[in-house]
Amino acid sequence: MKVLKFGGTSVGSPERMMKLLDIINPAEEQIVVLSAVSGTTNSLVEISGKLLKEDKQKALTLINALHQKYNDFVVELLAEGDFREQGQEVVDYHFNFLAALSNDMFTPIEEKVVLAQGELLSTTLYHIYLKSIGVPSVLLPALDFMKIDEDNEPDIPFTTKNLQPLLEKHKGNKLFITQGFICRNSFGEVDNLRRGGSDYTASLLGAAILAEEVQIWTDIDGMHNNDPRIVKGTKPISHLSFDEAAELAYFGAKILHPQSVFPAQKYKIPVRLLNTMEPQAQGTLIAADSEKGKIKSIAAKDGITAIKIQSSRMLLAYGFLRKVFEIFERYKTPIDMITTSEVAVSLTIDFTDNLDAIVKELHAFGSVEIDRDQTIVCVVGDFGAEKHGYASRVLDALKHIPIRMISYGGSNYNISLLINTGDKTEALRSLHNRLFE
Ligand code: ADP
Ligand code: ASP
Ligand code: MG
Repeated sequence: MKVLKFGGTSVGSPERMMKLLDIINPAEEQIVVLSAVSGTTNSLVEISGKLLKEDKQKALTLINALHQKYNDFVVELLAEGDFREQGQEVVDYHFNFLAALSNDMFTPIEEKVVLAQGELLSTTLYHIYLKSIGVPSVLLPALDFMKIDEDNEPDIPFTTKNLQPLLEKHKGNKLFITQGFICRNSFGEVDNLRRGGSDYTASLLGAAILAEEVQIWTDIDGMHNNDPRIVKGTKPISHLSFDEAAELAYFGAKILHPQSVFPAQKYKIPVRLLNTMEPQAQGTLIAADSEKGKIKSIAAKDGITAIKIQSSRMLLAYGFLRKVFEIFERYKTPIDMITTSEVAVSLTIDFTDNLDAIVKELHAFGSVEIDRDQTIVCVVGDFGAEKHGYASRVLDALKHIPIRMISYGGSNYNISLLINTGDKTEALRSLHNRLFE
């Protein structure tokens, strides 16, 4: 069985939705994971923002505008008659529900419920569309088998255990459709896998059913060798190893959710990144092995905060780093990059909710310096121990840009540099010219 995920643009209009059957072969066994129609989750985030601020009027205006968009969507997607009525009922149900939410207390728990509506709408409408043209399919409720624990970690055995009986129940059916992004948390509440999480749903499902392959269908022909939104002339990469893809996703390549590679890697499920607008294009294959000896791609992650702890006490005396890391652990704050010297350690985080409390505790060790608005630029490729010359090419490309931290040798496939976010565009372009042109 395969898992095929279609992103927001791929289901972004009735026309696009109808065209999915150019790619989906209903005669093949597969689970199709759909994102929300593009723009919907952003609108739902905005609506929740208003409701959290108790601006009910503005929220209702936004809800009505989105409702109208879906009314039009239904008219275009479904021919007049029973199926269009069904589609309209579904749309009205979800928007009446949203409007009703604005009458009661609104907390982050309700916010998650609001954010879930996009995927619930897209999958139900697509299911009705398939019915309307006589293509059999089964709609599987992701909230019955996608789950995260108290640390936001997905529970793959839970998914396997709860999905298998559903697939068994509908034995003989081939085409299953489900929602990306949404799940339940350890309290049983509706939750999600963070923005862009439908990719993660696809790879978690791939792992849970030991799929033959996971296909991520999007609006570009695979992972490019630099951010195509910033740099001109980027090119798709035909092969990436799981490790390379994980680094790129984690360090900002938006085409993949940051965590989405890990389940596929752990369960050895190949992942293909493919273009809905150009289905014949080769795309990118992410698998265990990869081409050796090449610089593959450049990515950048914004919103980074650097923390430097300068200590008069022997910094690298044993136990010191542990004490520093324990503080971050206690505040559930992951560290991205780290560099050390005899008298100081610098590290970066992107989750800053607990920064004040962390800094307060770090002061026990010495002085603490904070730099905000930083960007990690990450160069990914095969930099095995016997390789040489790559670091100097990277640094040469960035010789006109102030570098705050450098991390090299942590793995065989990553060189990371911390720069001011204001220098990112120039850094990506300069690296591209030096490494790929
Ligand atoms: P979807 O809605 O299908 O999940 P996304 O917008 O999340 O699509 O991801 C696809 C987008 O990622 C592309 O349109 C592109 O602009 C952006 N992107 C950023 N970095 C890269 C990269 N290195 N390679 C390919 N696409 C990238
Ligand atoms: N709809 C969600 C988002 O916009 C999930 C996804 O598209 O992957 O973030
Ligand atoms: Mg995405």
